[in-house]
Amino acid sequence: MNINTKFIFVTGGVCSSLGKGISIASLGLLLEGHGYKVSIIKMDPYLNIDPGTMSPFQHGEVYVTEDGAETDLDLGYYERFTSAEYTRKNSVTTGQIYYTVIQRERRGDYLGRTVQVIPHITDEIKSRVYNVAASYDLDFVMVEIGGTVGDIESIPFIEAIRQIRQELGSNRVLNVHVTLVPTLSVAGEQKTKPTQHSVKELMELGIIPDILLCRSGQLLTAELKSKIALFCNVSERNVISAVDIKGFIYEIPYMFHDQKYDDIVLEHFKMDVKPLKMRAWDNFMKSLLNPMKHVRIAVVGKYISLQDSYRSIYEAILHGATANNARLEIVRVDSEDLENKPESTGDLFNDIDGILVPGGFGDRGIEGKILAISHARKNTIPFFGICLGLECAVIEFARNVCGLAGANSKEFDAGTAYPVISLLEDQEIVLEKGGTMRLGAYLCQLAQGSRVRAIYGTESVMERHRHRYEFTNRYREVFEANGMVFGGVHPAIDLVETIELPEHPWFIASQFHPEFKSKPIKPHPLFRDFIRASLEYGMKSS
Ligand code: GLN
Repeated sequence: MNINTKFIFVTGGVCSSLGKGISIASLGLLLEGHGYKVSIIKMDPYLNIDPGTMSPFQHGEVYVTEDGAETDLDLGYYERFTSAEYTRKNSVTTGQIYYTVIQRERRGDYLGRTVQVIPHITDEIKSRVYNVAASYDLDFVMVEIGGTVGDIESIPFIEAIRQIRQELGSNRVLNVHVTLVPTLSVAGEQKTKPTQHSVKELMELGIIPDILLCRSGQLLTAELKSKIALFCNVSERNVISAVDIKGFIYEIPYMFHDQKYDDIVLEHFKMDVKPLKMRAWDNFMKSLLNPMKHVRIAVVGKYISLQDSYRSIYEAILHGATANNARLEIVRVDSEDLENKPESTGDLFNDIDGILVPGGFGDRGIEGKILAISHARKNTIPFFGICLGLECAVIEFARNVCGLAGANSKEFDAGTAYPVISLLEDQEIVLEKGGTMRLGAYLCQLAQGSRVRAIYGTESVMERHRHRYEFTNRYREVFEANGMVFGGVHPAIDLVETIELPEHPWFIASQFHPEFKSKPIKPHPLFRDFIRASLEYGMKSS
């Protein structure tokens, strides 16, 4: 481990959903902008090994890293905001910690000792933090502790970070606490008491915060900052407003920089405050805030009512729109509604410039997605299918173009006469649900002359996966005979990775999830080109 690596721990108080993940990602961006190397770890205090087995209704999107870890969606913010490489080491849960310790206990590694939360669980938590520091040459390891201080589940994590500060000293550790300063609507007054209580609770656990990040409706007044400083034992300058943002989350780093959050952190560690350089981010923001065009994209899915279920998809579409200087309007279409009212299809997509069908599991809403895809195909509306979106496009094409009536995926109809989407043999025998899908980055070879090859501008790409089912290869010939092109293939086991219809202005689907690799300063080529085509379609159709 680099003996100069510094550790920043971020805890949360008062309530959940205060935007800790985005705040730590924003600080990461600023520290990188000052020329430092960072990595961020998310520690989630739940007992699941990873969120892979949780419903999107419970948890939001499952974010997948290059090495195939199924992680919390905060990892997505870390990757989009910073340039660090994230792997399964960056995503830790109580489930993983206990699993490791219990396996060790069964092996007899503890040599007859009683295995306890302190020191065995806390040691394992600490070793996960130190392990990231040891794996890369880093200036900062930042750690977000999920949950809220005071929860039973998070106590071992808080204890572990207390011990780390004890071991390394204050000049290598900084504690940030994110709290809420609510405004009472009747009195219109900002209240500091919840913050005071939360800090008190944290102090009882042995953590003295150095910086308070106060989520609030408006900037905190100087008076309020001094009150919080006095009661919570921090300097006034270290009380920072994290104001609810009306525009885009990508503006948050600037809000923090204006309050010198980055300088305060660097000064705490007695590190040089090198000039902040964020030219690429500044340019992205300029385009984002000054769009010249307007694009309307329909996202047809089953988790449409939840903000976070398609988080990376929405962000990737935004990056693509910004790269095209377009203001993005997303129209969320519930595929079940469409299924129940197929006659509404024409009206629903009347003013839409492009249709995207994202990933998903289970058969609910499938026929609605197929209807949307059929509409896009027949009316030459740009269509982008992702994972389940590809599988639905394959089913639609099989039924309506290849004449394979009743074609389906085996996931939805095990007895279908035409299983155009099915499991590979080695997946048929897998019984466990957790971590058993095709996960993480796989090579995709792009065929000469294909549209995907032109869009990517390379012969091959690595893209991330999270699915069980695949295109059934014995149907390739009949699909090709009917005009479908398999532009991207995973060469080692000959798996279909992308499909496209050359006759259509833009009809592309991928088995992988390109959204996980899109960043504001590096929009994904497929999303960028999908928006370009959608703008073109919009111009023609208006
Ligand atoms: N349910 C499909 C499969 O497992 C698609 C998964 C996805 O869209 N992520 O293959």
